[in-house]
Amino acid sequence: MENEVVSKNFIEQEIDKDLAEGVYDKVCTRFPPEPNGYLHIGHAKSILLNYGLAQKYHGTFNMRFDDTNPTKEKEEFVDSIMEDIRWLGADWEDRLYFASDYFDQMYECAVRLIKKGKAYVCDLSAEEIRAYRGTLTEAGKDSPYRERTVEENLRLFEEMRSGACRDGEKVLRAKIDMASPNINMRDPVIYRVAHMSHHRTGDKWCIYPMYDFAHPIEDAIEGITHSICTLEFEDHRPLYDWVVKECEFENPPRQIEFAKLYLTNVVTGKRYIKKLVEDGIVDGWDDPRLVSIAALRRRGFTPESIKMFIEMCGVSKAQSSVDYAMLEYCIREDLKMKNARMMAVLDPIKLIIDNYPEGETEFLDVPNNLENEALGTRKVPFCRELYIERDDFMEEPPKKYFRLFPGNEVRLMSAYFVKCESFVKDENGNVTEVHCTYDPETKSGSGFNGRKVKGTIHWVAAPYAKKAEVRLYENLVDEEKGVYNKEDGSLNLNPHSLTILKNCVVEPGFSEAKPYDSFQFVRTGYFCIDAKDSVPDALIFNRIVSLKSSFKLPK
Ligand code: ATP
Ligand code: MG
Repeated sequence: MENEVVSKNFIEQEIDKDLAEGVYDKVCTRFPPEPNGYLHIGHAKSILLNYGLAQKYHGTFNMRFDDTNPTKEKEEFVDSIMEDIRWLGADWEDRLYFASDYFDQMYECAVRLIKKGKAYVCDLSAEEIRAYRGTLTEAGKDSPYRERTVEENLRLFEEMRSGACRDGEKVLRAKIDMASPNINMRDPVIYRVAHMSHHRTGDKWCIYPMYDFAHPIEDAIEGITHSICTLEFEDHRPLYDWVVKECEFENPPRQIEFAKLYLTNVVTGKRYIKKLVEDGIVDGWDDPRLVSIAALRRRGFTPESIKMFIEMCGVSKAQSSVDYAMLEYCIREDLKMKNARMMAVLDPIKLIIDNYPEGETEFLDVPNNLENEALGTRKVPFCRELYIERDDFMEEPPKKYFRLFPGNEVRLMSAYFVKCESFVKDENGNVTEVHCTYDPETKSGSGFNGRKVKGTIHWVAAPYAKKAEVRLYENLVDEEKGVYNKEDGSLNLNPHSLTILKNCVVEPGFSEAKPYDSFQFVRTGYFCIDAKDSVPDALIFNRIVSLKSSFKLPK
């Protein structure tokens, strides 16, 4: 690592400093989600950042569920979160923790604070506490209960614990400074009464610690060195430092904040995603139009593409939004060399080669990926009746249209040259068949006698074609209008975010395809087998991304 000349982000610089000064002798990080929803691309940033730092500094990475709030938490989310993090490749080994396992220690910390005269039981209601707190420009007022004796506080806190108090009747507050310019330091509530069952501790507790008190203790117990969180906690850092100091943890952790990841015109907030799911606007938390990790996986994104994207975003203190097109760029880059390029026709019409022997089939050798020979070749059947894309034929072509039209010759990809001789229309004027003749001399690789054609089109042999459904996705929100409606905060949805094509045909080579497998459909884009709805006899593909984009790599 010594000789590396890569620029370091500001967190790495802080860590280097801490290690050089001997503040810590190793690096321990964690990812601490609240199990109250599915993880999204923003969380991926936090996961990969924390895990990446642990790896880079040969330290450790903890997986910890921050499950101190029993109201919103669900076991379902615990499982999905672990699955998503594993899929991303962040490995916590045997370091899986639950904040609720520390409730006893948190309780002891609170008792210790009381004994030190640093915490008191307060009987003010929630509104009164708010009113006493003051404002940004005005100091707060001391609670009338602030000067209770240690003995009285110990007795009352025990009453709170034993179930003698109603919800909200009493709270435990840190005794810091009601005149502090930082409102978070004005005697914050650190424990509340809540008669609620917890998904892990059951009914053992009827008091629960507040986030700002619990989180630093969780970090300290686990020996976390760098507690990395997002910018909105910057003003809470003095309280974080106060808690670890007053609870007398040795070698306490430090908090470092970075800016959240936002994507332009994409819904990331858990609250909004939840509403889309509940309103039935999307097909669950893993609907491929969402950017939850489960949705990205179902859509066909790879962990590598997400890693590349997060690295390109960098880590900073400045809030900004990243263009979704950058994520698309990353998945294209990742799949370009990895994926087989197969033939699929999304809007088929028949092409009939009149001079090709009836009932005969050739099996042509087709390279799987011209840019990556290692992917080998496959045999693709070719015969008299094929399917081609409807828009690869035009009765009256405009200028510069090089595909099929009466009298024109094109190359059938990896096969022969064919020349359009005639076509058939139905009573509505739709073309149903295109008739061609082929030139046996033009078989791919056997030389074309110097003859050139300008167009190359793809095809699927009709008798061997597999039917498939293809789902095309666009942005869920209306990009013109922006994500949120200014008047009522509702989402501006794009009515065309999902297009389902039911009559697609794909070459027989897809019969081996498994859920999540992805392919390039030549000339159209990258597609992935839908893991939820696809079955071998009725394949369903999600479009991950089209082939082209206007996205330019930032210099
Ligand atoms: P949301 O705002 O989507 O509800 P959250 O912050 O409530 O997310 P947590 O479970 O508390 O979700 O988050 C776990 C970790 O992920 C926290 O450390 C949090 O700072 C981080 N995180 C959440 N959203 C983002 C984001 N957009 N970018 C980077 N990190 C994030
Ligand atoms: Mg949160």
